[in-house]
Amino acid sequence: MIFKDLVIIGGGPAGLSAAKIAAEAGVSCLIIERDPFLGGQLIKQTHMFFGSEKQYAKTRGLDIAKILIDDCLKHQDLIEIMTSTTVVGLYKDKVITTLHDDTYNKIKAKSIIVSTGASERFFAFENNDLPGVYGAGAVQTLMNVYGVKPADKVIMVGSGNIGLIVSYQLHQAGVKVLKVIEAASNIGGYKVHASKIRRIGIPIETRKTIKRAIGKDKVEQVEIVSLDDDWNIVDNSSEIIDVDAVCISVGLIPQRNLLSMIDIKTKFIKELGGIVPIINEDHQTSDKDVYVCGDVSGVEEASSAIVEGYYTGLIAARNLGKEHQDFKTLNIDYKNQLLNLRSGPFGKKTLKGLEIMKEDANVK
Ligand SMILES: Cc1cc2nc3c(=O)[nH]c(=O)nc-3n(C[C@H](O)[C@H](O)[C@H](O)COP(=O)(O)OP(=O)(O)OC[C@H]3O[C@@H](n4cnc5c(N)ncnc54)[C@H](O)[C@@H]3O)c2cc1C
Repeated sequence: MIFKDLVIIGGGPAGLSAAKIAAEAGVSCLIIERDPFLGGQLIKQTHMFFGSEKQYAKTRGLDIAKILIDDCLKHQDLIEIMTSTTVVGLYKDKVITTLHDDTYNKIKAKSIIVSTGASERFFAFENNDLPGVYGAGAVQTLMNVYGVKPADKVIMVGSGNIGLIVSYQLHQAGVKVLKVIEAASNIGGYKVHASKIRRIGIPIETRKTIKRAIGKDKVEQVEIVSLDDDWNIVDNSSEIIDVDAVCISVGLIPQRNLLSMIDIKTKFIKELGGIVPIINEDHQTSDKDVYVCGDVSGVEEASSAIVEGYYTGLIAARNLGKEHQDFKTLNIDYKNQLLNLRSGPFGKKTLKGLEIMKEDANVK
């Protein structure tokens, strides 16, 4: 059994930021990351981020990952990193089981920060298991991490930021994106991303969805249909299109599986992306030594994941008896940064979700 003060599960922006601040306060931490690389979703984001300077706006996601990783590497005396290591078990006595190269290990922690991010939402349609039906995030990983061109002709289902950004990047990779379809009556993502892909000739068609994928051993065509205001299929609206891949981009779901193993209280809050752990202001779950930050506590953006990570690292360190020398200033600063990030039209949804959370947040 390995013993650790603070174990951070997930080395994305939230986990890395939590480790940096906890180490600054003098806590020894272990980051466990299942991928071979640290950085989470950021390592595939080749586009420049929005937000404010404090969260590295106008910097490419993969460069933000490098900054956050370097910040942790500056504390090598206190931050240990395990990559290609998956946490497969979490127990109420804070024992963690990891799997690395067919070997299981046990680690016992005083406190745990779960920052496992989110996974892609999928949905039911005929033949959705045919090879060639991808999550948009998976396509982005193939292109931007592994340099693999995923297809020649695709259709994107979903017009949120991920659908729009990945459509642009597919185009950059030489893939023909025939159209983006969206079941709602509005485009889900930022106008600037939508305008960018329209300018390069990719149409965005609202009130449309995919009915089925068609093909023998892989996707060869798709059938798309129009929807009326009650989301019923409009008669005679079927359109068959030749494609060799379908990208599904219909949202992300907080990755809370590990938390379920220790009966952490959860609630369905649609504004936060689905079932989320109930947390108090200090990001503590119903087990006060288990904290969450980033997309696992509500799907948002890298900018808020970073600030939530800093904040959670600050609080977890203090509760372990190591108060950061700038605790008071940082505590206020991080809260203000999160308020600022959520002050725009897209932040309203998160704020509403957090209000709903408060009704149950007597978990201190
Ligand atoms: C395609 C796409 C485009 C995006 N574009 C933007 C953008 O332009 N601007 C922006 O601000 N945000 C963007 N985002 C959102 C942003 O990337 C996420 O909000 C952010 O990465 C969340 O950070 P996180 O640390 O919570 O989770 P993640 O980045 O998902 O990191 C979680 C980490 O946990 C690891 N993990 C999970 N389970 C385990 C386990 N059991 N054991 C060990 N490790 C585990 C994962 O491998 C991963 O590395 C985008 C997201 C996607 C998918």
